[in-house]
Amino acid sequence: MKLIQLTAILFLFVFTACTPDSSTMEDSTPEARLSGTELEKDLRFLASDELRGRRAGMPSAEVAARYIAEQFRSAGVTGVPGAEDGYFQTVPLNNGKTSRNVIGMIEGTDPELKDEYILLTAHYDHVGVRSPRGDNGSDTPADSIYNGARDNGMGTIAVIAAARAFAKKAPKRSILLLAVTAEEMGLVGSRYYAENPLIPHNQVVYNLNVDTGGYSDTSIVTVVGLGRTSADSLIIQGTKPFGIEPIADPSPGEGLFDRSDNVNFARQGIPAPTFSPGFRAFSDPGVANYYHQPADEADDMDYDYLTRFTQAYVHTARIIANADEAPHWMPGDKYEEAAKQLYGGGSE
Ligand SMILES: [Zn+2]
Repeated sequence: MKLIQLTAILFLFVFTACTPDSSTMEDSTPEARLSGTELEKDLRFLASDELRGRRAGMPSAEVAARYIAEQFRSAGVTGVPGAEDGYFQTVPLNNGKTSRNVIGMIEGTDPELKDEYILLTAHYDHVGVRSPRGDNGSDTPADSIYNGARDNGMGTIAVIAAARAFAKKAPKRSILLLAVTAEEMGLVGSRYYAENPLIPHNQVVYNLNVDTGGYSDTSIVTVVGLGRTSADSLIIQGTKPFGIEPIADPSPGEGLFDRSDNVNFARQGIPAPTFSPGFRAFSDPGVANYYHQPADEADDMDYDYLTRFTQAYVHTARIIANADEAPHWMPGDKYEEAAKQLYGGGSE
């Protein structure tokens, strides 16, 4: 009996000593253990034919908004003071219809830094259903549903994953989650929130947006705005554990920085890059064949990459939320002046 006990203790000791160090920050965070199966479930729902391409103003976009809000609520994310039912903001659209932004927050753990917020944004709407383009030469009718799995189902599930991870383990700064509507109608939902914020903008020190046309290189993440804020080293630190290297916007001529929801926060002065799954040119087949095409479906997706991309996004947000100093615009950036107006000239 004694011998068995001794053997057990010895075994436990040897086993413990040989187990790889699991105390690193990367391993001890919820995002390191993020479930790819759960992400796939979220994406397959949001990009399903039943969701009819999530066109803002249509009932199916309301179903998507409700789904996101219920993921926030069930994860333990709290509503935001002033939001409708805690989690919604009604956005007027041009045609007299309305759609809703979805919002939630997680309070930071540091007594002082928790008054500062990292804003995580993604648009959840897409372009809906369009009439098929003529005869496709087969007996099967052409697909008319623009499912938007990449654009921006991927971004939406990244924000949902962030909700779950930060609700399990909050960082020092507070997290503000915002899934915006009507991006495809001209950044309408994010502009409406930027003009009607529920948390004062001068408490929001960074915005990490995520938006996607498609991807062609699963070893990288394309960060539109890399090099423009002082967070580059934090972004490298956040993506590396997941086998992903950040690269800057490969085609600045396309004006991508100013074409997604992040620009509405940049204009307020908030440093605001956009995470996109890896592409090296907009003409890459992985982008061109899917961007605003009915082919942008959840069936045709690299779920291993989607998981690592999501982990990298959440972990980068965590590192920025835990950093001693909030990042700032690089000197001379076109939004630097707006930041001085927002946060006050002397302090960075
Ligand atoms: Zn998009």
